[in-house]
Amino acid sequence: MKSKSAVIIGAGIGGICAAIHLASHGIHTTVAEKNALAGGRVDQINRDGHRFDAGPTLMVMPHVYEAEFSSLGCPINELLDLQRVDPTYHLVFDDGSQLALTSDMQSLKNQLESIQTGAYQGFLRYHKEGERHYRIAMERLVNCDFRRFSDFFNLGNIPLLFQVKPLVKHYANMSAYFDNSRLKAAFTFQDVYMGLSPFEAPATFSMMPYTEMAHGVWYPKGGMYSIVEALMTLAREAGVEFAFDTTVEQIIVNGRRASGVVLEHNQLVKPDVILANADLPYVYQDLLPKDSLAERISRKQFSCSVISFFWGVDKPYEALGPHTLFLADDYHANFDAIIRDLGLPANPSLYIHAPARLDPSMAPLGQDTLIAIVPVGHLSENGEQDWADLTDQARKHVFRRLATLGITDLEAHIKFETTLTPLSWRKRFNLMKGSTHGLSHNLTQLAYFRPANRHPRYRNLYFVGASTHPGTGVPTAMISARLVARRILDELPALD
Ligand SMILES: Cc1cc2nc3c(=O)[nH]c(=O)nc-3n(C[C@H](O)[C@H](O)[C@H](O)COP(=O)(O)OP(=O)(O)OC[C@H]3O[C@@H](n4cnc5c(N)ncnc54)[C@H](O)[C@@H]3O)c2cc1C
Repeated sequence: MKSKSAVIIGAGIGGICAAIHLASHGIHTTVAEKNALAGGRVDQINRDGHRFDAGPTLMVMPHVYEAEFSSLGCPINELLDLQRVDPTYHLVFDDGSQLALTSDMQSLKNQLESIQTGAYQGFLRYHKEGERHYRIAMERLVNCDFRRFSDFFNLGNIPLLFQVKPLVKHYANMSAYFDNSRLKAAFTFQDVYMGLSPFEAPATFSMMPYTEMAHGVWYPKGGMYSIVEALMTLAREAGVEFAFDTTVEQIIVNGRRASGVVLEHNQLVKPDVILANADLPYVYQDLLPKDSLAERISRKQFSCSVISFFWGVDKPYEALGPHTLFLADDYHANFDAIIRDLGLPANPSLYIHAPARLDPSMAPLGQDTLIAIVPVGHLSENGEQDWADLTDQARKHVFRRLATLGITDLEAHIKFETTLTPLSWRKRFNLMKGSTHGLSHNLTQLAYFRPANRHPRYRNLYFVGASTHPGTGVPTAMISARLVARRILDELPALD
């Protein structure tokens, strides 16, 4: 019998992992990637001995990585040298006061109690709720394949309404645990990873601060890009073929089938299965025929974006921990400015990553490698945002916030700078609206309500990655890949 074939559009984490699963089951698998490098948003910039992770910098949910690497046929520790980052974050507030989120419970207790008497008990109760949300959501909403309506809408799932608080807003829920607004911010800012404001995110997302505190945030030696390198080793061993610098221009459809993909220079390829790892809204908008579904997807809520600065610096800034987060006191106004007004807040919360604190090889000896990330709105429809001006403002905010830590000379020590804005994200990875996390994760775009891993009309066209089920994030893309590969393998015999 002729072996089946699959073409995967995009070598992001979801695309590479799905390719490994399919190729390991005998499917002839080719990945077409528009860029020269694998990894998609897990991207890297190397210059003059400075190594930057241009996308993710936080390895969260370590158990998921472990399980997914095992499902790909190799224990993670054989491929990656991992260390736990503790304290995970150094939070810095507007007045320069700090909170180090650490797994050292005595230290955490002392710090929380100094901010608000009784806060440690509140933290323990919040942590317990987060544990419940994580356990149940991972089993019933994330690590779960929703192929049919009844896979989600069934009697067994009714208790979820109470068990994981989907109808309660995350920030409002914090009042049950803390009075102090800085503490409420300290344990909800993670919602921005989903592209969400805690004022609109479901309280279910307390699962994120929980897993960060309980299971830790980790760091692979060599940075996050070493995860891509490890996966590419497995992909090549499994026999996956890659075509880099190869853009898919169109998906050809015929009745209820996707009959082929058109590559650059009009080359037509006709596999049995097409799996789109390129972000789903872009695929509907640019690769498929325009129809009402594409229109509906484009009207969905998109996550925010970021302006990122990559600085090679000629001296080390040891005062900066690996992950420093400047949290603005006007927390609510921050999210309104980003999500509602699609702009830059007047006093933005922002994040600085100093990878050489974790792996000295990320910077030349006696120098430093710094990344600053400032969340901003996604691209607006009317194109009125002035990104040069917003980037300039964001840059000044970073220096202003660093001054609260006594760092006032950074600008003078920058050897070179690379900047990525929402326009860069759109261009580099075809992310619609430059949304770094794709479709948002609000209640109506989660679980069964998120665009599914298979196209509703074209039976052999599947999706994997951030804007499909289960959602954004590196570990989530690995889950998405396993779920969709299983579905393809189950459905392939009936696709002829
Ligand atoms: C700034 C930033 C910070 C982040 N921080 C974290 C973090 O700390 N931790 C975490 O877990 N996650 C983080 N994320 C999210 C995480 O990076 C993504 O959710 C995940 O990598 C998405 O993977 P994916 O499988 O959807 O593929 P993508 O990364 O979207 O890759 C899709 C690939 O398809 C390619 N492509 C697009 N169109 C075409 C075409 N027409 N033809 C051929 N190829 C095409 C693209 O070039 C790309 O390589 C971050 C993301 C960003 C941008």
